[in-house]
Amino acid sequence: MNFHEYQAKELFAKYKIPVPNGEVARTPDEAVAAAKSLGCDMWVVKAQVHAGGRGKAGGVKLAKTLDEVKQYATDMLGMKIQTYQTGGLALPVNEVLITEAADIEQEIYLSLLLDRANQCLSFVASAEGGVEIEEVAKTNPEKIHTIQVDNTEGLFPYACRKAGFAMGMNAKQVRQLTHIMMQMHKMYVELDLSLIEVNPLIIDDKQDVIALDAKISSDDNAHFRHKEFAAMRDITQEDPAEAKAHEHDLNYIKLDGNIACMVNGAGLAMATMDVIKLKGGDPANFLDVGGGATAERVAIAFKIILSDPNVKSILVNIFGGIVRCDLIANGIISAIKEVGVEVPIVVRLEGTNVNEGKKILNESGLAVISADNLDDAANKAVAAVGA
Ligand code: ADP
Ligand code: MG
Repeated sequence: MNFHEYQAKELFAKYKIPVPNGEVARTPDEAVAAAKSLGCDMWVVKAQVHAGGRGKAGGVKLAKTLDEVKQYATDMLGMKIQTYQTGGLALPVNEVLITEAADIEQEIYLSLLLDRANQCLSFVASAEGGVEIEEVAKTNPEKIHTIQVDNTEGLFPYACRKAGFAMGMNAKQVRQLTHIMMQMHKMYVELDLSLIEVNPLIIDDKQDVIALDAKISSDDNAHFRHKEFAAMRDITQEDPAEAKAHEHDLNYIKLDGNIACMVNGAGLAMATMDVIKLKGGDPANFLDVGGGATAERVAIAFKIILSDPNVKSILVNIFGGIVRCDLIANGIISAIKEVGVEVPIVVRLEGTNVNEGKKILNESGLAVISADNLDDAANKAVAAVGA
């Protein structure tokens, strides 16, 4: 799950990571009240959406008067923002953050993420912050520093100091950076996060190091340990089909292709998508209906799949291990009847009572294309799209 900047900054403040004072507002009047209560004479009005790149898209504005605060808040609230990070979606702005304007001397990039290749947490830091870090990685890779955190020993202050000096910081700044990195690591572990990104982390005119922007993602699988996160979820920022799937505990990720997949088990879903690609097709989604492929869950899954207008055929690939294939077949039939699926459906069942399952499908009178194995199923699903 992703967090808004203002939520991330609240969490930063709890972990004593310095952030500029700020308040969130949902109306232009609230924005003016927030600006007054901050007691400064210059503000930045920031659109709250689950994406970076807002600066370039008109979602970050410097206001020198309260009238300007009101004007920018009015402009931003209700608008939709599309940036290079929104994945083609335009995200609605329902909240703005009114925050103190900082005097920026330098913008630094700092993030902490799960480094799968090295099987540890790694910090990525660069003195060339503020801009798109992907650009820096391409043009000046030597300006990006990676600090790996040992899984058993944890993060040592000397590693943070080394990163600070490598970025040309002075002793005072290095001390502050070390505190920030140690706290980021503590927060990442305690809150089961999957990403903390601060871009920019700034050095201000007083030579203090401050987090000017904040982006956090958490690991949904650990939310049972962090009940307070449920209230922080903002589904207006999520893909509607993915949000609906989440509500029903289905793992659904929309993709660009036109062959929808309904599979039980993440590994089987990955394999199914691979075989579709191998046969020259393009998967429309990843969908794991989980262990209990019941009629209700299959019906919801069909509805989610069909909400994507690109879908031209559906491949159902279900292994009856815990659930028997005859029960799954009945579930699929009642779900198809309930939802009214109009695109071709290829079904491949395997496992307990597979013959009974196939028989039920064949005798259902529905236009279900039965497949004998995954290879056969993928061929049929790809052919169905072409037809
Ligand atoms: P995004 O990453 O979505 O573009 P940022 O919060 O990083 O949004 O803001 C973009 C730029 O706007 C920053 O790099 C910084 O130069 C400027 N900026 C953001 N917040 C402030 C602030 N409080 N004071 C001064 N400048 C700011
Ligand atoms: Mg930023």
